[in-house]
Amino acid sequence: MICIAPGNPGVMIAGMVLWRSHVLRQVLRWAQNNADYVIPLYCFDPRQYLRTYYYGFPKTGPHRLKFLLESVKDLRQTLKKKGSNLVVRKGNPEDVVHDLITQLGSVTAVAFHEEATKEELDVEKALQRVCVQHGVKIQTFWASTLYHRDDLPFRHISRLPDVYTQFRKAVEAQAKVRPTVQMPDQLKPLAPGVEDGCIPVPEEFGQKDPLTDPRTAFPCCGGETQALMRLQHYFWDTNLVASYKETRNGLIGIDYSTKFAPWLALGCISPRYIYEQIRKYEKERTANQSTYWVIFELLWRDYFRFVALKYGTRIFLLKGLQDKEVPWKKDPKLFDAWKEGRTGVPFVDANMRELAATGFMSNRGRQNVASFLTKDLGLDWRMGAEWFEYLLVDYDVCSNYGNWLYSAGIGNDPRENRKFNMIKQGLDYDSNGDYVRLWVPEIQCVKGGEIHTLWALSNAALSQAGIALGETYPLPVVLAREWSRHINQKPNKRDHPPRGRKDPSDTPRQHKDRGMDFYFSRNKDLS
Ligand SMILES: Cc1cc2nc3c(=O)[nH]c(=O)nc-3n(C[C@H](O)[C@H](O)[C@H](O)COP(=O)(O)OP(=O)(O)OC[C@H]3O[C@@H](n4cnc5c(N)ncnc54)[C@H](O)[C@@H]3O)c2cc1C
Repeated sequence: MICIAPGNPGVMIAGMVLWRSHVLRQVLRWAQNNADYVIPLYCFDPRQYLRTYYYGFPKTGPHRLKFLLESVKDLRQTLKKKGSNLVVRKGNPEDVVHDLITQLGSVTAVAFHEEATKEELDVEKALQRVCVQHGVKIQTFWASTLYHRDDLPFRHISRLPDVYTQFRKAVEAQAKVRPTVQMPDQLKPLAPGVEDGCIPVPEEFGQKDPLTDPRTAFPCCGGETQALMRLQHYFWDTNLVASYKETRNGLIGIDYSTKFAPWLALGCISPRYIYEQIRKYEKERTANQSTYWVIFELLWRDYFRFVALKYGTRIFLLKGLQDKEVPWKKDPKLFDAWKEGRTGVPFVDANMRELAATGFMSNRGRQNVASFLTKDLGLDWRMGAEWFEYLLVDYDVCSNYGNWLYSAGIGNDPRENRKFNMIKQGLDYDSNGDYVRLWVPEIQCVKGGEIHTLWALSNAALSQAGIALGETYPLPVVLAREWSRHINQKPNKRDHPPRGRKDPSDTPRQHKDRGMDFYFSRNKDLS
């Protein structure tokens, strides 16, 4: 979204990505004092609907497009209620802004949110050129993170630690989260003569509205209104936030985790608002490891954005942040099996099918399928990253590439050769096999955790379950040596899967001292 401010004091154009909600407030407040008219603008940039960079998948999948269209509609409604509107255009932001400036004649400023990665920065540069050409002031804001870039306790972004825990400890000790800004009750109107424009339909991007799969873990709509309702539900109506740490590794249903990511990715909700609500909840209800852990995870999100600022285009390169030579393969058959959920490894297949059908996958699932693609199949990690870029409803360039680099062992992970054991993970987090049964119906007649290791079942057991391996369900495309340890093993009969916490008396302080390493704390069990 872009805001344009015409006139003197003027018209302001504000926009670019969908407004980060507190930026929108900041901009609109600023505009109240500095402009007679304000044009909040959202551009559907055609470049976002082309192909991914290396492997040419569609860049924006149907679930994300649907969510985006809903978010734009919601923002328009919100702005209308306050006396403004959202101007919507299809086109490159720099061209659209050029046309508006030309049409209006006197624009004072163009404001937008600053992004961190190449394609977005290129758009910013193009916008700057247009503004310079027309003698229009540029006003930029930073707002996607919990901690403001300027408040980081590192003298320069190049000094950002390469290890998350060091980053987290430093910001927690030395930086403050800025308060959110109130949205003005009444907004300056659009400049006369500016058409608000139609919100496009999916068909204009060559897509159809996707069907909602009843099994989805993310049955939500886009927009700030829905984001706030989700927070109200997760925090205040159900107190789910107070048990987040125990449930966050779940796989089925909406409530095992916050599901804030899709709204955060588009800027429909602000991490600072979530933070304020957590603090309020901690004061009024309870403060525990779970309430802290939501902030801990939001800090991962911050971290990957700052990593992108530090490393620039290196986050997209094959050798990653570590400039490490790895003999990645590009086997299209293996990749197709992975992306279509036909690897013959049920835990992987279930997750990949969920992603394709709904645009969402749990964090546990993502960690596993990424490890499987990079470590078990040895495929170019960017194939996986771009597949996620295409499909994820919560796709966020920094979080996606940061996590993929991490999983591939060429990002911000200080330890070598981390690898998930698909069978152990399946048994730990889907002990009874219910998740696999939900997404891989052709093997649903296999009872219990044995569903994770079909190839180890007797022929009689397989035929009783109606399975002909290699025919009705694939044989595994790969068998890792370490899996055999978990065959015929009784699954963990725990209500909740392990979360790496062994000592129930661990205090939040102790937990604060663990990083993502925490996920890997039982590393002897991983391989
Ligand atoms: C390979 C891979 C790719 C990923 N791609 C994305 C992506 O494109 N966009 C995205 O938002 N997240 C991504 N994640 C991180 C994480 O899986 C999702 O943020 C999370 O599953 C979203 O569900 P939730 O909102 O219920 O998360 P919750 O568990 O409720 O976490 C709360 C919030 O913390 C943040 N968060 C949690 N874990 C992470 C993490 N590992 N990295 C960064 N932020 C985190 C998210 O903003 C999330 O909404 C990826 C993880 C992996 C392993």
